[in-house]
Amino acid sequence: GHDWDIFNINDVCNLHDPSPPFCFLHSHQKSTRNSILGDQYRWPTTIPYYLEDSLEMNAKGVILKAFDQYRLKTCIDFTPWSGEENYISVYKGSGCFSSVGNQHVGKQRLSIGSNCDRLGTVEHEFLHALGFWHEQSRADRDDYVNIVWDHIQPDKKHNFKTYDDTLSSALGVPYDYGSVMHYSKTSFNVGSEPSIVPRIPHFMDVIGQRMGFSASDLTKVNRLYRCTKSSTFVDSCDFELENICGMIQGPGEAKWEKRSSVSGGPPTDFSNMGQCEGKGFFMHFSTASAAPGGRALLESRWLYPKPGAQCLQFFLHNSGAADDVLNVWVREDDLVNPKLKLFKSISGGVMGSWELHNINLNVTRKARVVFEGVRGTGPSTGGFSLDDINLSSSKCPQHIWHIRNITRLLATTPNGEKVYSPRFLSPAGYSFQVNERYLATYFYLTSGPNDHGLKWPCPWQQVTMALMDQQSDIRQQINMHRMVTTDPHKMLTDGTEYYWDDPRKVGYKVTASDGSFYYRGPGTGTSSFLTHSRLKSRNFIKGDDAFFLFSLEDISHLLESWPLVRTAVQAEDSLVKAADQGAPRGAAGNPAAVTAVVGCVAAMAVLVVSMVMARNAWEKRRRRESDEVVIIQDMPWFIEVSV
Ligand SMILES: [Zn+2]
Repeated sequence: GHDWDIFNINDVCNLHDPSPPFCFLHSHQKSTRNSILGDQYRWPTTIPYYLEDSLEMNAKGVILKAFDQYRLKTCIDFTPWSGEENYISVYKGSGCFSSVGNQHVGKQRLSIGSNCDRLGTVEHEFLHALGFWHEQSRADRDDYVNIVWDHIQPDKKHNFKTYDDTLSSALGVPYDYGSVMHYSKTSFNVGSEPSIVPRIPHFMDVIGQRMGFSASDLTKVNRLYRCTKSSTFVDSCDFELENICGMIQGPGEAKWEKRSSVSGGPPTDFSNMGQCEGKGFFMHFSTASAAPGGRALLESRWLYPKPGAQCLQFFLHNSGAADDVLNVWVREDDLVNPKLKLFKSISGGVMGSWELHNINLNVTRKARVVFEGVRGTGPSTGGFSLDDINLSSSKCPQHIWHIRNITRLLATTPNGEKVYSPRFLSPAGYSFQVNERYLATYFYLTSGPNDHGLKWPCPWQQVTMALMDQQSDIRQQINMHRMVTTDPHKMLTDGTEYYWDDPRKVGYKVTASDGSFYYRGPGTGTSSFLTHSRLKSRNFIKGDDAFFLFSLEDISHLLESWPLVRTAVQAEDSLVKAADQGAPRGAAGNPAAVTAVVGCVAAMAVLVVSMVMARNAWEKRRRRESDEVVIIQDMPWFIEVSV
């Protein structure tokens, strides 16, 4: 398949208003008069949205997942439109594009077209809608990148303009090569030569990432919208600080200790892998020194998650006895019934390495998370170690695929040979599997124990495949996501069978070395999940290990058309609004004047009103034309490939 790592900009400049690249200003710095994106271009922090029928099912699921990223990492939330004056209506246009900022047009459309159904791309388009331009449009960009004008398609050169910095502000954030809003090195280029060359060569392969928000992207959103908290983030702890994030020890003799290494393992923490001197701590309960039956409690501070589903993620290193147990409890603030609720008991498992655990909690009020280590009776030379704990108000990924020694695997796996994950079961009962082939990632339905009772072809199950960025704080993780939805109408290329039919019917037999077998259906995914240089960026690999997170979810409820809310009223509203905002303000455009005329001669009033209407319509048209100029068009990143 052909992979796109470029994106297009049709035009980013409003002809009526030479808009600055970063069109927002600190209110204390400058009047917003010169800026297309002053306060009036902001959305409320909870943005009403509408998903139009034209959207692909996979795109709908991806959009909702992108909203979850906003909820976790910013104070921006999204709510289904229920008649609010202005809202974002998402549809499938010819590409990925958006206007910049809240245009106050009532229904403001944003397009997620073919191949735009990627998490980073949706985040990018919504950043435009929130009021952000491309990173390399910043006034100071010439200090950081060279624009190679000779290598740019002649009719696209306008996309590389800069603007007077009296008109723009980057919200005090330094130039960010890693922004999800930055062009790639080959955007609008001719041939294969780069059109943008970072002045620091290291960033050549960094620019153009579409994995997700960079730290600076988040700083800018949070500054522009004056965010103080996000709606779903609850807590994160890497145990680097002396106060251990406000955690407390329970009563009893056995205690958890803050350590940087343990002779029985682990030799280092997980966050830093021992690479930073004087840093790199974790909490350890030594079962080597505890008496049999000894218990040690480590309790979080009081936390205030949103009621409902929460995901507790942490890394656990077990070097203790086979019968040592780690219990994960929740202590809710309930005076009537103040007992602990057990959510998970972990014993044995993979020993001697840092392992990721995801535990779904269900807390309805203020609560503490409690880690209880229990000493067994078997011989122990180590114990339990905890690091990089995160709690958020969201569902956990369903499955984890831990790939060890991935560098060696990538180096030694011949191109073309695939590495398959174990088979997993979705909540609905579908069996599936993912493979890796030199960073190409594909999803397959496989035969499983429930197949006789399942619907075939498999309808509207969406898989989320994420390569985890093993950053300590979940808010700073830029996981690489890929999502695929099973369309039950999709046919195999020869047109004889349904693509997502029972793998026993459309798949082939896979025999394991022990003689057991199963069936694997056709796969769908992407041939370049991630480039090698991007794989080495961030913390996708830590200690030479990588973690894939998978979920397979039923999204058939997204098939239904969304109810339209008071559309007629909406149309009238926007007509009046267009008049209110029309630039020339003559008597004819003044509602007070219109009222006066109505009081005099009714017939005349009708005439005047229709003139007003005509003017409104003209204004609306003009506005729409000028809006088209500020709509930012992006090219999709990947082309879907099937194998
Ligand atoms: Zn864009």
